[in-house]
Amino acid sequence: MLIGGEWCVSSSSAWFETKDPYNGKPWARLPRGNADDVDRAVRAAHAAFTSGPWSKMIASDRGRLMYRLADLIEQNAERLADLEVRDNGKLKVEMLGQMRYIPRWFQYYGGLADKIEGAVTPIDKGDMLHYIRYEPVGVVGAITPWNSPLLLTVWKLAPALAAGNTVVIKPSEHASVSMLAFLELFEEAGFPPGVVNVVTGFGHEAGAALAEHPLVDRIAFTGSDVGGRLVSRAAAESFKRVSLELGGKSPHIIFEDADLEAAVKGVISGIFAAAGQTCMAGSRLLVHENIHDSFVEKLVERMRQARLGDPRSDTTDVGPIATEPQLAKTLEYIQIARSEGAVCALGGRRPDTDGLKDGWFVEPTIFTGVDNSMRIAREEVFGPVLSVMKFRTDDEAVALANDTPYGLAAGLWSQSLERAITIPRRLRAGTVWVNAYRVVSYMAPFGGFKSSGIGRENGKAAIYEYLEAKSVFINP
Ligand code: NAD
Repeated sequence: MLIGGEWCVSSSSAWFETKDPYNGKPWARLPRGNADDVDRAVRAAHAAFTSGPWSKMIASDRGRLMYRLADLIEQNAERLADLEVRDNGKLKVEMLGQMRYIPRWFQYYGGLADKIEGAVTPIDKGDMLHYIRYEPVGVVGAITPWNSPLLLTVWKLAPALAAGNTVVIKPSEHASVSMLAFLELFEEAGFPPGVVNVVTGFGHEAGAALAEHPLVDRIAFTGSDVGGRLVSRAAAESFKRVSLELGGKSPHIIFEDADLEAAVKGVISGIFAAAGQTCMAGSRLLVHENIHDSFVEKLVERMRQARLGDPRSDTTDVGPIATEPQLAKTLEYIQIARSEGAVCALGGRRPDTDGLKDGWFVEPTIFTGVDNSMRIAREEVFGPVLSVMKFRTDDEAVALANDTPYGLAAGLWSQSLERAITIPRRLRAGTVWVNAYRVVSYMAPFGGFKSSGIGRENGKAAIYEYLEAKSVFINP
């Protein structure tokens, strides 16, 4: 772990193992951080915020450090991607793409660091001068999941650092190794000690201690709704600012006038590319009744040819599930769907062939005949399981799409300009893709409506999530 610029182990000397999802074998050992370790890290971050060189650094220099870091990440992209694939089993091609994209966040927010401008405003108090200045919130606790460990941490880190905060990261217990390699680069870039710290360990131990710690001013959480609820309860004790990026059950709507070939590819990348393990997975497919059967047939045909295998190989289309509990949960949901009466049109099993049976694989699975009230249509599986439903009218499609407790994302495929303009307005989701799916950018706000979270990451406005506005009145 990295605390106050020192690499260290837990004060309890306890360790835990992380396993490779491709073969189920342990491959690394990490310190099991506890509340004492979190306390040390938070105090180091607090000291760096209040009195270290970071607190006195001019904003342009903070930006310059972030540019230097971006260059180092570019140089180390391959190594970082390899570590993530080993930890979470996602395809190398996807993780490498993420590593090559991450530098943009540091360049974008590094560029904003010295453009955080206050304002002198008119005021109804005679000759008084009133101005607004923006100041960093203080110590940020970043609690992150295993599916895209670095990318989702960077969505928090880059704006937090640009704004002048210090950070304590608690990465997922299932995928922490890349984070430790990543933090070596901060040292190399020249960030002062204590500005970024990491405590590895479990959610109910290190994570809970971070969410509760009175010297943490803001929590930025990405994970499940269960975790998000626990974190926001703990943070409420000391009224911390909280942002939550949670799960989804995102609808993917295929209208009759869609380019069906492109839509099939979009649906596949939306749910199967990362074996369903993305928050924005298009896990509910709504297809117009006139094209339902032929569209499902195309989809099944295409996915029947998908190659499961080593996530490091260029020829693999679908990798394993990242963790053993997640594998069990996915198989359980497949059982639930069957018992609810959904029809399994493809997959539905854990493969037992050589080369796959030791890993945590689930066949790409497609259920038809799903009713939106079934659990398989309402609850997040976070695995390669697609639920297909029919609709007749646009109103029905919109009603079905919105009939979910979640509101993270939605996709639609249509060649009608009218639909492309009017349907996104009617969908209750933080991101809507038209004739595309799973596109994100450092320039575009990302976050959820309803139970998918609170707050937005990415885009210019995200930097204000890490700033406090201060009103100053001067009586001349
Ligand atoms: P999780 O909630 O189990 O864990 C996320 C993090 O929270 C981990 O670091 C974990 O250790 C920590 N944690 C767990 N319990 C805690 C507690 N009581 N106090 C403090 N910290 C605690 O989620 P996961 O399984 O790692 O990730 C998958 C989930 O994340 C899915 O629901 C997915 O939809 C969601 N997700 C959301 C986004 C988004 O941007 N909206 C992105 C990726 C993943």
